[in-house]
Amino acid sequence: MINIISKNLSQKTLDFLAEKQQEVNNKTTFLKQKDRAKKSWDGKTGSKKGNAAFTEIRTKLKEMNVGEGICNYCEQDTSTDIEHIFPKSLYPEKAFLWSNYLLACKRCNMDYKNANFAVFNPLGSANKEDLAQNTQPPNEDALLINPRSENAMDFLRLDIIGNTFLLTPINRDTTSRNYQRGNYTQELLGLNKEKLPQIRKNVKYNYIDKLERYSKIKVTTNFDELKEASHPMDRINENNQFENEKKQLLRGLEAYILNSPHPTVWKEIKRQIDKMPNKIQVLFAKVPEALRW
Ligand SMILES: [Zn+2]
Repeated sequence: MINIISKNLSQKTLDFLAEKQQEVNNKTTFLKQKDRAKKSWDGKTGSKKGNAAFTEIRTKLKEMNVGEGICNYCEQDTSTDIEHIFPKSLYPEKAFLWSNYLLACKRCNMDYKNANFAVFNPLGSANKEDLAQNTQPPNEDALLINPRSENAMDFLRLDIIGNTFLLTPINRDTTSRNYQRGNYTQELLGLNKEKLPQIRKNVKYNYIDKLERYSKIKVTTNFDELKEASHPMDRINENNQFENEKKQLLRGLEAYILNSPHPTVWKEIKRQIDKMPNKIQVLFAKVPEALRW
């Protein structure tokens, strides 16, 4: 989980969201608001205006995804659902709030998160309160790290050096808010469950493999060397200028790395570069530009 770079919606779509939100907010009790939010959400694309608004919202959310088509929580499965970070059943006043949306997969949305949510109560304290359904939450001081406004890497570290590929809180003080937020987030979303750690491990090798190829291609000076350094499936057109063909292969590898699932693994390799095995440090010394990707 890394932070999402937000994009702006058109005024028309923002107006539509505001209108829908107002319908919810106009209800006089929490339960009525919750009910209205659910009904309005289920019927959000029923009108021409609503359909256009949510087509734009989906498009923008896709562009904002942390990797091509992947879930912004687990970074693994296909992102299909518009997910409310603050659940709409608990926070109906955020049901039609642009900054409360991200794309998530069915696994994270339905199997893990659902409407589970916890806040610190009293506000600002380190006392966790799991929220009950059908009761208005005492505040918005959420434990879940909000990828629309925060970077989970400020709270969690991926254990690459120890080879477990588990996400653990950076702050080791279990009574601290930072520890609790990191820990709650990985537990709520099952970020250390199923095959995710093993997949992250494989992804690390894949990243290193691609970077190795990049470093080999980078030093080639003619077509023979380029063919030798590239993948057998890479198409190289010797009628083109050598430098252009080489540049294209390098750009392709960079784009591959930047659009792969599990961007956290890539970012953690870079963040922990000083502790990485010598072989990886040497590789990055050959390709220092990769530290900025
Ligand atoms: Zn997911």
